This record gives sequence, structure tokens and C-alpha cells, in this order.
Amino acid sequence: MTSTRKRVLVTGGAGFLGSHLCERLLDQGHDVLCVDNYFTGRKDNIAHLLSNPHFEAMRHDITFPLYVEVDEIYNLACPASPIHYQFDPVQTTKTSVIGSINMLGLAKRTKAKIFLSSTSEVYGDPTVHPQREDYRGNVNPIGPRACYDEGKRCAETLFFDYHRQHKLRIKVVRIFNTYGPRMHPNDGRVVSNFIVQALKGEPITLYGDGMQTRAFCFVDDMIEGWLRMMAAPDDVVGPINLGNPQEIPVKELAELIIRMTGSKSRIEHRPLPVDDPLQRCPDITRARALLGWEPTVPLEVGLEKTIAYFDRLLSERGEKTQRIVRLQA
Ligand code: NAD
Ligand code: UDP
Repeated sequence: MTSTRKRVLVTGGAGFLGSHLCERLLDQGHDVLCVDNYFTGRKDNIAHLLSNPHFEAMRHDITFPLYVEVDEIYNLACPASPIHYQFDPVQTTKTSVIGSINMLGLAKRTKAKIFLSSTSEVYGDPTVHPQREDYRGNVNPIGPRACYDEGKRCAETLFFDYHRQHKLRIKVVRIFNTYGPRMHPNDGRVVSNFIVQALKGEPITLYGDGMQTRAFCFVDDMIEGWLRMMAAPDDVVGPINLGNPQEIPVKELAELIIRMTGSKSRIEHRPLPVDDPLQRCPDITRARALLGWEPTVPLEVGLEKTIAYFDRLLSERGEKTQRIVRLQA
């Protein structure tokens, strides 16, 4: 074992972002323990890592205590897509709150540094634009998104209280919409929905008038931000926004994906979900200053990679794809 090799716990490691993080940590020469209850994560996401002697996968629900010896913890476990986190909202809150208490307790006992993947949802439907970290948000505490939004807000509170009360080394980032290969094809998030619908020639389900905005960050950029945050000096505790400040109306995203896939799909309007934020865009001044980080992958480049991933996935499943194939090279 090299002196720089760490034992790193990744909760939610079989999910979309977690699986990319596990890969990067293994590339850096660390021992990775991936803990997941497979609620939204998939064994397929980590299958290629199982033969690596420095990787270990454990089925475990973090709402129950966990006793392992580690140097660093990335606490990612929590469903992230609205349909998944609203499926069992009580479990969503438990995962963020009780799960965080368990992982913070583990960090306290092992003196591990601990990271939280918080979210732009802590800003709710923001009245300040773009969102800076000192904006306190506009969250409906009793709406259908509250299990996720308030769960994460409470997780942040717990992290900062453990930091103040027990001197834990914490790292809190607020993630804005992130996309890329290994998103769950049925998780209802906009990028995966539109690409899968376009590839299958099904209607593109645009909620509302599509003028609501989001800013999309490619997964590789996001993971780079996380690693820089974890490696930053101990006084860099966050919260720090991580996301792409290039904002785009959802309607334009639909049109772009139709163009890029060569799909014949038509746009079909559906009602805007309750509490769907009308605009969202990060101010990343803090990330630039403290981590020297900003996204580098343009939207079209990231979308090409994501479309190629879903194209492969649907072909393997024998599901019809309408795409004019020009990404296979
Ligand atoms: P994901 O749903 O693919 O991954 C979440 C993982 O956590 C899954 O593997 C799931 O099975 C696991 N999990 C859920 N509850 C658990 C529990 N109780 N115990 C153990 N494992 C559990 O979502 P993702 O997009 O990879 O998100 C990862 C993290 O990043 C989440 O904390 C999410 O809130 C945060 N985040 C993601 C985005 C985004 O755009 N992808 C935006 C903001 C925040
Ligand atoms: N959206 C849409 N069609 C879909 C899925 C989502 O128009 O099939 C919209 C959704 O209403 C929201 C935006 O796309 O305004 C992003 O939704 P997502 O669920 O990806 O994440 P959110 O940012 O809302 O958490």
C-alpha cells in the first residue's frame, strides 16, 4: 500500500454519479468501499469494477448504522430524480437525515473527512438569480419536493453542527443538474427522458411551456469538482455550488436533442409538476476562487456522449432506436 492510498467509503456508489466517482478514486490508487441499497443504483453501473482488488461493494441501507474503518467518506446515498425521491418520501427524508447522522457518527469515530452531495434544490424555486451560496432559498416545506429539499437542508445543518460541535472535517457541495452516461433510463430526469424518447421515436414530454431554465453540467466535470473539494484545505468546508453556469430553457434542450439524434419525435406539452422551479443557474464564483474549478465540457459534447450511451443501452435491450447513427466512431 502506498502512503497516499486512502480507504474511501462511497455511499450511493452504485448510482449514476457514485459509479463515476468510484472509478476516478480507483484510478487515483485508493481502496474504495461502495455501499448501496440499490434503490436507484444498479449493479451494472459497477460491474466493470468488481474484478479490481481495491474495490468492494456492500449492500447496505445507510439509515442503519455502519461499522467500517475508513479515511474519507463521500455521502451520496439518496435518490436524486423527482419521481424516485417522491416514490417513498419518508424513506427519502430518512436517508438524508438518519443516513447523514449515521455517516457523521462513523466519521467522528474514525476521524474521517466527510463529503455531502447537497443540491441546488436547497434554494427551492429561487427568487434570486443566479443562485449564490449565501441565498437562503425559497422552499415549500410541505410540498411534494420537500422530502428531498428539506432532507438535504437538514443534512447540511447536521454536517455544520458536527463540524462546530465535534470538529469534524466536512466538505459540503451543492450540485446543480448533472447528466451523462449511466443516468437511469427511466428516472424521469429531463436529459435521460428526452434522449430515450428521441431515440425511440416517442413524443418528447415537455412540461409546461418549456421556458423554465436549467443549467446542465457533464458528469466528468462534476466529479473533478468533488475531488478538488475533498483535496482542498480543511478550512474549505463549503457550501460550494458546483454546476454549469450556462443556462438553457428546457424547450431549447428538447430541440437540441431532437436535432442531435436526428429523431422524428414531436414535442408534446404536459402540465408543469407542482413546485417545479422556474429558473435555476449556479453562481460558481466560490468554486472558481477556492477550487480553481469550472466546467470544461460544452453541452453538445456531453450530450453526444450521453446519446451514444443510451443508444448502446437501448440496442442491447433490443428496444427500437430511431437514431441516425453518426456517433459510433
Ligand atoms: P442516483 O439515484 O443514481 O444515486 C443515488 C444512489 O444512492 C443510488 O445508487 C441508490 O440506490 C442509493 N441509495 C438511495 N438510498 C439509499 C440508502 N438509504 N442507503 C444506501 N444507498 C442508498 O442519483 P445521482 O444522480 O447519482 O445522485 C447522487 C447524489 O448527488 C445524491 O445525493 C443526489 O442528491 C446528489 N445530486 C445529484 C444531482 C444530479 O443532477 N444528478 C443534482 C443534485 C444533487
Ligand atoms: N422536464 C420536462 N420533461 C420531462 C422531464 C422534465 O419538461 O420529461 C422538465 C421539468 O419540469 C423541469 C426540468 O425539465 O423543469 C428539469 O427536470 P428534472 O426532473 O431533470 O430535474 P429538476 O431540475 O426539476 O430537479
